[in-house]
Amino acid sequence: MIDFTLDADGIATLSWNMPGRGQNVMNQASCDALCEAIARAVAEPAVKAILMTSAKPDFIAGGDLAWLLAAHDAAPLFAQVTRLHRALRALENCGKPVAMALPGSALGGGLEVALCGHYRVAADAAGARFGLPEVGLGLLPGGGGTQRLPRLIGIEKALPLLLEGRRLTAAEALKAGILDAVVPIGTEAATACAWLQLALLAGGTHQPWDLKGYQTPGGAMASPAMQQRMMAANAMVRATTHGNYPAPKNILSCVYEGMLTDLDTGLTTEARYFVHTVLTPQAKCMIRTLFFSMNEAGKPAARPAGLPTQRYSKIGVIGAGMMGAGIAYVAARAGLQVALLDRTQDAADHGKAHARALLDRRRARGQDTPAQLDQARALLGRIAAGTDYALLDGAQLVIEAVFEDRATKAAVIRGAEAVLAPDAVLASNTSTLPIDGLAEASARPDHVIGLHFFSPVDKMKLVEVVVGRRTSGATLARALDLVRALGMTPIVVNDARGFYTSRVFSTYVLEGLAMLAEGVAPALIDNAGLQAGMPVGPLALTDEVSSQLLDRIDRQSARDLGADYQRRPGQEVAATMAALGRIGKKAGLGFYDYPAGAKKRLWPGLGELYPRAARQPNVAQLVERLTVVQAVEAARCMEEGVLTTARDADVGAILGWGFPAFLGGPLSMVDGAGLAAFVARCERLAAAHGPRFAAPALLATMAEQGLSFYPAGPDSAATPA
Ligand code: NAD
Repeated sequence: MIDFTLDADGIATLSWNMPGRGQNVMNQASCDALCEAIARAVAEPAVKAILMTSAKPDFIAGGDLAWLLAAHDAAPLFAQVTRLHRALRALENCGKPVAMALPGSALGGGLEVALCGHYRVAADAAGARFGLPEVGLGLLPGGGGTQRLPRLIGIEKALPLLLEGRRLTAAEALKAGILDAVVPIGTEAATACAWLQLALLAGGTHQPWDLKGYQTPGGAMASPAMQQRMMAANAMVRATTHGNYPAPKNILSCVYEGMLTDLDTGLTTEARYFVHTVLTPQAKCMIRTLFFSMNEAGKPAARPAGLPTQRYSKIGVIGAGMMGAGIAYVAARAGLQVALLDRTQDAADHGKAHARALLDRRRARGQDTPAQLDQARALLGRIAAGTDYALLDGAQLVIEAVFEDRATKAAVIRGAEAVLAPDAVLASNTSTLPIDGLAEASARPDHVIGLHFFSPVDKMKLVEVVVGRRTSGATLARALDLVRALGMTPIVVNDARGFYTSRVFSTYVLEGLAMLAEGVAPALIDNAGLQAGMPVGPLALTDEVSSQLLDRIDRQSARDLGADYQRRPGQEVAATMAALGRIGKKAGLGFYDYPAGAKKRLWPGLGELYPRAARQPNVAQLVERLTVVQAVEAARCMEEGVLTTARDADVGAILGWGFPAFLGGPLSMVDGAGLAAFVARCERLAAAHGPRFAAPALLATMAEQGLSFYPAGPDSAATPA
C-alpha cells in the first residue's frame, strides 16, 4: 500500500502504491497503512529525513467515496479521523525534515497529507490539479485541510478554495503558496531529496504554525478586520445556499472556531464537523448522484451489450444557429472533424465564428498557454463550414439542429441520408418533436435517434438521448459513444412528449405561475424557488424561456392530445402574458421589466393582473409545492417507461435544469422522504391544489411493498434499480 525504502543517506521514501487501483485514495485501509508507515519512519533512528511520494501518476486523488457513503456510525469514523490527525501531527512534528514529491494531482485528502510536509514540490504535469474539492460533494476536508490551509496561506485566501472547491493547476498552486516549487516531470523526487539534504545540514525543521511567535498570514482570526470578513463570508454562504447545504456552513465553522485556537484543538473541531457532515442525508445524496450515478451514466447499464465502441473521427452538424454552432464547437474541441452546414455560407460562417468567439473569450481571460493557443487554431481548422451536403461525406453521425419544424427537419434528414454511408447515425436535437415522427422521413428509421443538447452547449454537460420505437440498439450504442467522446454525460429516455427534462422542468415553472394566479406575491414565489435550492425562481425562469414558448407547447399539446390533455393551471398565466406581448427577457418585457443598463425589477402591472390574496402562504409551503411537483412528474416518467433508471432521472434533473443537488435529484428526494410518507404528502397536496399532485400508482405500489428507487435506501452506492 505504502512502499517503504531507506537510502544510504538516511532518507526514507514512503511511496503510495495502492494495489489493484489506478489511483491512490484515502480510505480505511490506506489510512491505516499511512499511520503505520509514519510511525515507523518517525521511530526508526536510521531514518533521518522523510520523502513521501507516489508510484502512480497522481499523488492521491482524494477520499474513497464508497467508504464515506457507507459510513453510518459516528464513533468509529471519529476514531479513524482522529487517528489520522495524530499520525499527521506526529509526521510534521517529528523533528526530521519531511518533503512531499507530487508527480500529479493531490486532491482532497491527498492535498491534506501533502500539507503536512515541510516542503512540497510538484511535477509540471498538464492535467495535475491541487485543491480541496470536498464541498462539491457535500463534504468537508477531514484530514486537517480546514486548519492547515488557512495557517499556510492565510484565512482570506483559503476560504474561497475551501468553499468553492476550486482545483488549481500546479502554476496556480505555486502562486497561491500551496506548493514550494514546480519542476519538470520526473525530477520532483530528486528536487525533494536535494531539499531534504539541505534541511538536514541546516538542522531542525518545523511547520510555521509550530514555531513560537507564529502569526496567521494576512491577519489573525481574532483581529477586528478578520471578524468582519467572516461575517461577510457567513452572509455570502447563507445567500448562496439558503441554508440547504450543511457542508459550506460547517467549513466556515471549522475555520472560524479552529483559527481561534491552537492547531490541535482546531483538528478536533474539524473532526467533529467532518463526522457530522459525512452523516448528513445531503452528503449521502450528493455523493451518490453527483459521483456514482454521474460516472455510471451511459456505461454498460444503458448501452446495449456486446457492441463494439464506435471511434469517431468526423461528424456533421446541420443548422449553424445557436445550438448547431455550440455542438460543432464541443465536437471540434473533442478532436473530431466537423462539417457545419446551413442554408447560406454566411449563416454557416456565423456558426463557425461562434467557436472562434468562445476561444477568444478564453484567451482574453489569459488562460491559454502557447500550446493551448496552437490547440485553439487546430480546433478551428477542424470545422468546415458550408452549404453543400457533399461536405458530410465520411461523417459517421449527423446531428440536425435546424428550425423546430417537422417539414424542415424531414427535408434535412432526407438530404443528409442521400450522401451518408448506410450505417451513419442520424440524430436530431429537437426539443419537442417526437423522434418517431421524424424517423418517418427516413429510409433508415432504425438509425434515427434524438440527441438533445442544452444551451449553452459548451457549458451544459448533459445530453438527453431519446430512443424512438424504431431506434436500434446499435444506434443507441453509437450515440452514447459520441456523447462520451464529447466528454458529456448522457441520460437515456424513451420518446415521449417533452421527453424527460422539458416535461419535468416545465412543472416547476408552471407551478410558480399557478401560485401567481392564486394571488401569491410574485417576489415570494421567486424567493421560494431560490429557497428550494433552484438556481432561478419560476417567474424569472419563465422570462428566460419565454411565456410564448410555454403557450405554444400548450396549444400544440392540446391539439395533439385532444380530450386526454391535462392542462396545468399555470398555462393560463403563460397564455395571458404571451397575449399581452410580455413574452420574456428577449422582448425586455415579462414578469419582470428589463431596463437597459439596470437590474431587472418586477413589472408593477402584475399586481393589477393578479391581485394579491389577503392571506399569503408561508415560504415552506411554496417550497414544498415547487419541489414535490417535480418529483411527482419524474415518478410518472418512471411509471410510463419514459425513464428506465432512477439514476437517469436524478442526474438529468441536476445537470439539465439545476434541480437542487442537496436532495440528490427528484427520485432521491422521494426515497429520502420514504415512499409511504411521500405518497401521503402527495395526497395532502392533491386535495389542496389539484390532481397534478396525485401520487402515481407506481409510488403507491412501491410504498405498499416497502420498496425504494435505490435498492438499499437513500445511501446506497449500488446501481439504482
Ligand atoms: P436557431 O434558429 O438559432 O438555428 C437554426 C439554424 O438552422 C439557423 O441558422 C437556420 O438558418 C438553420 N436552418 C434552417 N433551415 C435549414 C435548412 N433547411 N438547412 C440548413 N440549415 C437550416 O435555432 P436553435 O435555437 O439553434 O435550435 C435548433 C434546434 O435545437 C431546434 O430543433 C430546437 O428546438 C433545438 N433546441 C434548442 C434549444 C435552445 O435552447 N435554443 C435547446 C435544445 C434544443
